[in-house]
Amino acid sequence: MPRPISATLSLSALTQNLNTIRGYAPHSKVWSVVKANGYGHGISRIWKSLSATDGFALLDFNEAVLLRESGWRGPILLLEGFFSAKDLAIVDKYRLTTAVHSEWQIKALAEAQFTRPVDVYLKVNSGMNRLGFAPACAGAAWQQLRELKQVGEITLMSHFATADSVEGVDAQMAAINLAGQNIRAPRCLANSAATLWHPHTHYDWIRPGIILYGASPSGEWKDIENSGLKPVMTLKSELIAVQELNAGDRVGYGGRYSVAGPQRIGVVACGYADGYPRHAPSGTPVWVDGVITKTVGTVSMDMLAVDLTPCQHAQIGSPVELWGGYLPVDAVAAAAGTLGYELLSALAPRVPVTTVG
Ligand SMILES: *Cc1c(COP(=O)(O)O)cnc(C)c1O
Repeated sequence: MPRPISATLSLSALTQNLNTIRGYAPHSKVWSVVKANGYGHGISRIWKSLSATDGFALLDFNEAVLLRESGWRGPILLLEGFFSAKDLAIVDKYRLTTAVHSEWQIKALAEAQFTRPVDVYLKVNSGMNRLGFAPACAGAAWQQLRELKQVGEITLMSHFATADSVEGVDAQMAAINLAGQNIRAPRCLANSAATLWHPHTHYDWIRPGIILYGASPSGEWKDIENSGLKPVMTLKSELIAVQELNAGDRVGYGGRYSVAGPQRIGVVACGYADGYPRHAPSGTPVWVDGVITKTVGTVSMDMLAVDLTPCQHAQIGSPVELWGGYLPVDAVAAAAGTLGYELLSALAPRVPVTTVG
């Protein structure tokens, strides 16, 4: 028997989420963001369920090549552009669209020899301060790019830092509008949060990532509760042991949880080497045999413990859902002080993954 842990991916949820997203931005084309191996879901498992997308966005050349060689013929956008001038041979060979965020990349494009012009996304730094041209320099960069025979269509791109919070997008939109004053180009700005909550950012292309997978861009499950988005990944396991403990007994490494009185504890075949967060404290929600209960004690490499007080019928072999259809990944992430993004993309390679329609 294999260890009872597995992840199940609902491919119909993925397809429906893309449809739902189109409903939020009916006039925009969609880059489905599949970086980090499709946020941990596996690009080769999921891309066909998203094939109604207008393009795929990612940032790893290996993933771009994989997608092309798997048969995707539409656009592929490199969100961070190329990392060295040598990469441009791959950009050309695999017909990739590339972000351009720095002066050196324009020079590299000017010196490149392509079989056909390459479409570029001119990235403006509107306040995130990671990548991109300052708003005051964007017009000049656009002019330079426009004059290159190596460059095909140019789209203006920027990325929001606070689209998921009360701060919103106003300051960054002002910077983008300044940058775009003298640029005649389509625009691509919105991540998941802006797609859901800031329709005036949608323009020509949107770039949703996390909402494709049915998790919340804000980390708050209630923020997407009524959005129509469905969780794609369910991580499940089973109870492999049950302990009947008495007052003063302690559970797990460090003995960090001690029981106050008689208590049933279940041991689940899932630990941090499966991608479950080790820093999830006692009290993190977990679904056991139809009931939401809580974890107790320190998460081990291969196991964690749960309180069976509310799960009277639970026994060895009872089903456990770590996150998924019954328990939003965002609820687990919130308890562990992180985001669904991190938990999904950290699913460990040792966990067997199956897909369902
Ligand atoms: C990751 C990423 C996205 C998608 O972000 P979500 O919050 O998952 O929607 C969009 N654009 C860029 C540049 C990114 O790096």
